[in-house]
Amino acid sequence: MKARILVIEDSPSQSREITEVLNNMGYDVVWADGGIKGLSMARKEVPDIILLDVVMPDMDGYTVCRWLKLNEETKEIPIIMLTVKSDISDKVEGLEIGANDYLPKPFNERELEARIYATLRTKSLQNELRKRNEELQELLHKVEVMALTDPLTGLYNRRRFYESLKREFATSKRYKHPLTCIMMDIDYFKKINDEYGHMTGDEVLKGLSDLISATVREVDIVSRFGGEEFTVLLPHTTIDKSLIGAERLMDKIRKKTFKREGAKFKITVSMGISSIDDIKDGNEDDLIRFADIAMYKAKENGRDRIEVFSGE
Ligand code: GH3
Ligand code: MG
Ligand code: MG
Ligand code: MG
Repeated sequence: MKARILVIEDSPSQSREITEVLNNMGYDVVWADGGIKGLSMARKEVPDIILLDVVMPDMDGYTVCRWLKLNEETKEIPIIMLTVKSDISDKVEGLEIGANDYLPKPFNERELEARIYATLRTKSLQNELRKRNEELQELLHKVEVMALTDPLTGLYNRRRFYESLKREFATSKRYKHPLTCIMMDIDYFKKINDEYGHMTGDEVLKGLSDLISATVREVDIVSRFGGEEFTVLLPHTTIDKSLIGAERLMDKIRKKTFKREGAKFKITVSMGISSIDDIKDGNEDDLIRFADIAMYKAKENGRDRIEVFSGE
């Protein structure tokens, strides 16, 4: 595709001359006969380069350049200033307000060609660099998500869970909203691995994680906290409501049947629940610690049950 050049030049004879030269070099040329017209054409035509005259009656080239650089749609278009003035300070002014290059008038054809070519090349290198940068950002994002997701279940891992916990804890403290946490651990999970193999064990972990995700509310944060331990953080939820949710989940887990060639089996879990109200001077870590203490109490009291934290 031919590169398109917008020539903003008030003199018809000079613009005719430039257009002819540029056409011969194989460029598409559009012409604006003044600064104001140039601004609107720059937006409409989206040229690859703008050749901009400095002295024009309606708006001088520096002002046009400033506007082009301020506008989102045109700020990336390279600008070459066409200047009769050979004064160094004029050239510097053009470059300072964002022009990419300048060309003294009357211009030399070979110089014009060389400058346009160099500007286009720089532009395309910049575009490529930007594209590569975007790709890198995307990759980085993927890596970050991977580092925070448990690969087996797709749930948040412990690290990501802690990030959410920190945020939810701070919000709940500040606005005095209730916040509760359920910690659960599969009962006798070792036996499942021993009896049916590690692969089946993995499937159980996946099946359970799907069941938990499908049962809790959208705002609840589920994570695989460790091997066969899961946590659910329930924002805006009192201990009573949390207990009702835990019982519903418990019921579903008891009813779920896991299958393995020929064999069918069920699992149970033990749950512990803690509340932000249990914490006097502590921080978010205590919410986890207290849920864990309650969960161990559920184990001690026979497993397949829920205990609410009631002190250390
Ligand atoms: P308890 O009722 O006291 O919790 O008994 P348990 O056997 O579940 O407890 P324990 O913590 O002693 O054992 C947990 C087992 O979970 C040990 C480990 O082999 C298994 N495990 C941990 N991570 C994975 C995993 O990713 N896949 C599988 N298949 N097993 C895992
Ligand atoms: Mg002029
Ligand atoms: Mg365990
Ligand atoms: Mg266990």
